[in-house]
Order: sequence, then structure tokens, then C-alpha cells
Amino acid sequence: MSNNLTAEEKKSLKAKGIIAQKQDGYFTIRFLSKVGYFKSDEMIELANLSKKYGNGELSLTSRLTLEIPYIKKEDIDNVIKESKEKKLRIGGGGDTVRAVIACKGSVCTHGLTDTNKLAIEIEDRFFGRILPGKFKIGVFGCVNSYGKAQSNDLSILPVRNLSNLEVEYKIFLGGRLGRQARLAIPMEKRFKENELIEVVEKVISYYEKNARTKERFAEVIDRIGIEEVESEIIK
Ligand code: SF4
Repeated sequence: MSNNLTAEEKKSLKAKGIIAQKQDGYFTIRFLSKVGYFKSDEMIELANLSKKYGNGELSLTSRLTLEIPYIKKEDIDNVIKESKEKKLRIGGGGDTVRAVIACKGSVCTHGLTDTNKLAIEIEDRFFGRILPGKFKIGVFGCVNSYGKAQSNDLSILPVRNLSNLEVEYKIFLGGRLGRQARLAIPMEKRFKENELIEVVEKVISYYEKNARTKERFAEVIDRIGIEEVESEIIK
């Protein structure tokens, strides 16, 4: 069976988390975790969906979502309907704030902050916001994830100030992976925990206002210059 979909239709489905496979007639459906966690009951429901409509496999993604491959085109509506009934979230594509990722800093002995709580707060507030391009956010608990922090459009990473031993937060701007990979740049200024949501709002608003269609934050920074971007954000 052919997918019989135009490129535009495939793109629109992909933005909703329904991805046409190269195997004709089959789709992969992407389910959103809560910053990396599913409840055990959700996992059981996902396994059941995979058995019923897929090929029994579930795969994990770098943004901590879970995908069920090999869903037939004619079963997509049923999967969506059953997912809604079970309160499973499908999505995570398009030119939006994507699924927020967090390291295990909430339970890890190295964690300087409750990464799960902070990432959920950010996701609840910003996930799905429509922007000029995709926008990826990461929350990390210590410098062991420095490299990961460099790979998101916006990352938060706590460090200990050695002069007073207080925890303060570095904000990384403009990282991206893919064929035009670029490392994010940490802002000069460091922030306190109670300032973080406001800073995230300012960064996203800055991107929203200054990016051209489809331009990633990395490109905006390269075009405008990190000093000016940072000074506008902290104004
Ligand atoms: S980045 Fe640090 S806090 Fe987070 S999981 Fe790794 S070691 Fe733990």
C-alpha cells in the first residue's frame, strides 16, 4: 500500500508526531514523556499499543520520547483515539518548543539542582509554543553534561560559585546538532534559580522576534552577534 501523501501532508503529520516511514504504508508515532519519565501504567499502555498496532517494538529517542514504529496508515486514527483515552501524548515536532530534556540530576548524587522539577516547569509553560523554527531546551544537573548543554538551542546548567559556594546557573545559547552542528555559547552572566523562568521567557521571546522563518537560534546569533543577543536578553 502506498502512503499516497504529498510532501506537505507528510510534513504536517510529522509536526504532530506521526512520521512516514520509508516502508510504504507504515508510520512511526512519537509519544512524549514528561522530561524523560513515563508512569509504569503509561509504559504498559504503550507496550499494548505496540503489540496491537505495531510490530511489538518501541524505540527511545534522544529527546526522551518513545516511538512506536510500523503502524499502518489505516490504524493511525485508532492509535490517536486510544492514546487520548489513556492520556498518552503524541507530538513533539514542527517549528515549536520541542520536548524539554533533563538529566537525572534530581536523583543523581552529582546533581546541584532538581532538574526534573525545573524542566517540568519549563515544559508546562513553553512546550509547543509556535516559533520561527524548532527550539530545543535542556536542563542539566552538573558540568558532566557540559557537552549536552552545548547541543541545545537553550540549556541550563548549575555550577558552584567557588567564592561563596552558592549554586548559580549558566545559560547556554544557540547550540544545534544535525548537518550544521554548532556548540552553544554560555552567557557571561550567571543567574539565580528564581530568575530562570523569566530568562527562558526572554530568550524564547528574543528568538521569536528576531529569527527569520526557519532560521535556527544558532544562525540568529551568528548573524547578530552573541554580545548583542546577550545584552538584549538581560536588558
Ligand atoms: S549531568 Fe551531572 S547531575 Fe546530571 S546525571 Fe550527569 S552526573 Fe548526574
